[in-house]
Amino acid sequence: MRTEKHARNLEESMKGIGSIGAVQIGRVLDSTLLGETMQGWFPDFNCEEVKPHESWLCPHHYNSESGHFSMPVHSWVLRINGYTVLIDTCIGNHKHRPGLFEMHMLNTRFLERMSDLGVRPEDVDFVLCTHLHVDHVGWNTRLEGGKWVPTFPNAQYVMSRTEYEAAKADALDPGARPFLKDVFEDAIHPIVESGQACIVDGVYELLDHLTLTPAPGHSPGHYRIELRSQGQTGVFAGDILHSPVQIPLWKWSSRVCRDRSMAAESRRKLLEFCVSEDALLLPGHFEAPHVGRIRTRGDTFAIDFGW
Ligand SMILES: [Zn+2]
Repeated sequence: MRTEKHARNLEESMKGIGSIGAVQIGRVLDSTLLGETMQGWFPDFNCEEVKPHESWLCPHHYNSESGHFSMPVHSWVLRINGYTVLIDTCIGNHKHRPGLFEMHMLNTRFLERMSDLGVRPEDVDFVLCTHLHVDHVGWNTRLEGGKWVPTFPNAQYVMSRTEYEAAKADALDPGARPFLKDVFEDAIHPIVESGQACIVDGVYELLDHLTLTPAPGHSPGHYRIELRSQGQTGVFAGDILHSPVQIPLWKWSSRVCRDRSMAAESRRKLLEFCVSEDALLLPGHFEAPHVGRIRTRGDTFAIDFGW
């Protein structure tokens, strides 16, 4: 049955937006967060440091008048040798998220958008979690008959053990923000309960083309996901960066980073990796064109947007 399915998928082409070697890549938008200002998001924010970058950041990546920047929440979908791989699962529908008004009880067309690419939930073989934050695990599950069930019934969900333990500890901590308990109970625990979780430690390799490499800081067990095919490289960066401003100003971590200096160190290593391997950077929250190549410029880094 699986062989038949994979043989069919090899012939079907996914309506992706780009490729790395032989791997087709698509993007599925869930929702866009519009409520954050750079000043509120980055504790180290300083207008003088941003000014020299406004010419390329504005208007898509920064509104210098209001101070806002938007963060699309999207998944990446990959077709590798007939296998379908989904990286991160956004916010999800019908999720109770107290205190997070932009994520509370959404009803988006995420699955329809995925189906527009030619991917049905049952086609997904692997869900890879860069980390287990609220805006990266929501579509792990969907509501069916009042119960949270895995959205992707044939998938193995790969997640970091460190990250899983941290999410569980947050859910059990009475002093933690209430939505953390909801996220664990409706989007993480049901995957473990269904037997579909593949909880891994350290560097983890998959399908001959993918490598999950620890990149902690934003969250304790955050992974970056490297893709290599036919001499080309890409790296799915999750929340190692939230805005392209963090490419030249790579020391800036967000207010939601668990360990800000460790997050900056993982960011520097990621950017150096992109330069040394000429890897395409595919972050979790950049506005169009969503991806780019990293170059060194002076004593820091710059991005050339696009595939
Ligand atoms: Zn995020």
